[in-house]
Amino acid sequence: MRHSPDVDVDVAIVGTGFAGLCMAIQLQRAGRHSYAVFERADRIGGTWRDNHYPGCACDVPSHLYSFSFAQNPRWSRMFAPHHEIHSYLERCVDDFGVREHVRLGAAVTRAEFDEDARVWRVHSRGQPTVTARYLVLGTGPLSQPAYPDVPGIETFRGPAFHSARWDHDVSFAGKRVAVVGTGASAVQIVPRLAPQVRELTLVQRTPPWVLPKPDREITGLEQRLFEALPAAQRALRWWQYWSMDARTLAFTVEPRLMRAVARLGRRVIRRHIADPALRAAVTPDYLPGCKRILIANDYYPALARDNVRVVPHGLRRVAETGIETADGQSHEVDAIVFGTGFRVTDALGRVPVFGRGGAELNQIWCEQMSAYLGTTLPRFPNLFVLLGPNTGLGHSSMVFMIEAQVDYAMNCMRETERRGALTFDVRERDHAAFNQGLQPRLRRSVWGSGCTSWYLNARGDNVSAWPGSTTEFWLRTRRMEADHYELDAAPNPHTSLHSARDRVAG
Ligand SMILES: Cc1cc2nc3c(=O)[nH]c(=O)nc-3n(C[C@H](O)[C@H](O)[C@H](O)COP(=O)(O)OP(=O)(O)OC[C@H]3O[C@@H](n4cnc5c(N)ncnc54)[C@H](O)[C@@H]3O)c2cc1C
Repeated sequence: MRHSPDVDVDVAIVGTGFAGLCMAIQLQRAGRHSYAVFERADRIGGTWRDNHYPGCACDVPSHLYSFSFAQNPRWSRMFAPHHEIHSYLERCVDDFGVREHVRLGAAVTRAEFDEDARVWRVHSRGQPTVTARYLVLGTGPLSQPAYPDVPGIETFRGPAFHSARWDHDVSFAGKRVAVVGTGASAVQIVPRLAPQVRELTLVQRTPPWVLPKPDREITGLEQRLFEALPAAQRALRWWQYWSMDARTLAFTVEPRLMRAVARLGRRVIRRHIADPALRAAVTPDYLPGCKRILIANDYYPALARDNVRVVPHGLRRVAETGIETADGQSHEVDAIVFGTGFRVTDALGRVPVFGRGGAELNQIWCEQMSAYLGTTLPRFPNLFVLLGPNTGLGHSSMVFMIEAQVDYAMNCMRETERRGALTFDVRERDHAAFNQGLQPRLRRSVWGSGCTSWYLNARGDNVSAWPGSTTEFWLRTRRMEADHYELDAAPNPHTSLHSARDRVAG
């Protein structure tokens, strides 16, 4: 007879970025105190713990890029620097009482669904195996640095590191430095490094569109106003939300609207760069949005400096004392910074997760990354993936998507339990129909307008972006459609879920 033994915790959560913490906080707020949060690092914070390079800040306004239920009236700028966002997350952990549930230095190495017991077994480094009724992966799509696939990186004699592994002991003053890549991080790093270094060589494979950043300091008076009158801050957030979500039109419905954005982008380049050859080198030849649109006010002025050289060719190899670019030129440098982004399309599945019948998430996602509403997967009962496939945005806050997914997860748990079931499993049919519906929309979107980008996998399918507005995602994840799920309707009278739920995980 199948049975479900008592579990160590009701919910096991992996990761302490915005996603894992949002899940923990919402469980806590709902009075479900039986959960454990596993974090491989020795501090909480995810993206905002790992990225502390010079100039690192968010590029969605902070009032929107934060939890709706924990508004911070004290942001110092419209786009807060990394350390403020990290401190904000640390504060949330304390304010909502989730710290005692967090296990640091506990990398999850494997999780498997025990079909007989109908529980997840979660194995982690340095911890005993934990059984949980639900498993939540909040391991982050941008948490595994990607390095260029070129020979010789290990032979370089000077300091060389990724933007997400910044070494603050290295001084760049008076040095010749190569920055490889021109993505979101590089665009923030270059203006900070350029005034310090003797020579900066920027290795650019494809130029990004870089638009003005509406950043400014938030005055003390404004901060006090937001504190005294939270409705004023909510109004600002509301305005930011709708004005950003309206951009969905150009991203997903009518990409030709992006031509106007391209005109603006070219005007910005002309304003800051006088040299026609440099102008040509940094002007993209694809529609804005096809690759992520970046925002910065100091990037083009930095490129126009005498000590900065843009090499519009990819990296070919790294040697002991420098680099060689695809045009065959060698560049002697003292240090290298890799602003080469993250392993997006293979990052989420790196924890070996085994579902029903030996199904393994990595293997399935090697073929094709997909999930139902970016959150649940057939043959993986009681599993939620936060910021899973096709939840990425080009135009608004990922924290909004995380909150929608977490609300959905809470709803799925409640609905499963209300119906007296122990497990839910999304039906293959509904999972397939959902994903078949996404690709045609994505092909018509700006991401399908003909560039190579990290949104696309090796086959050219877009497994990263959400093809609609965030409002649509919110509406579609508001509640579990129980007919899209198989609920294991054989409740076991011996199960003591409530006792599990009430137990506090240490
Ligand atoms: C520099 C930078 C700037 C960004 N700016 C913005 C922005 O302005 N707006 C926006 O919307 N998005 C932005 N993003 C995207 C950002 O990643 C998301 O907004 C969000 O922070 C992701 O949160 P997460 O919790 O899903 O992942 P993460 O923050 O990456 O957290 C994942 C956590 O899981 C842990 N983990 C991973 N594997 C394991 C394991 N096996 N066991 C235990 N723990 C594990 C990691 O250590 C990490 O702490 C930015 C990303 C970067 C890199």
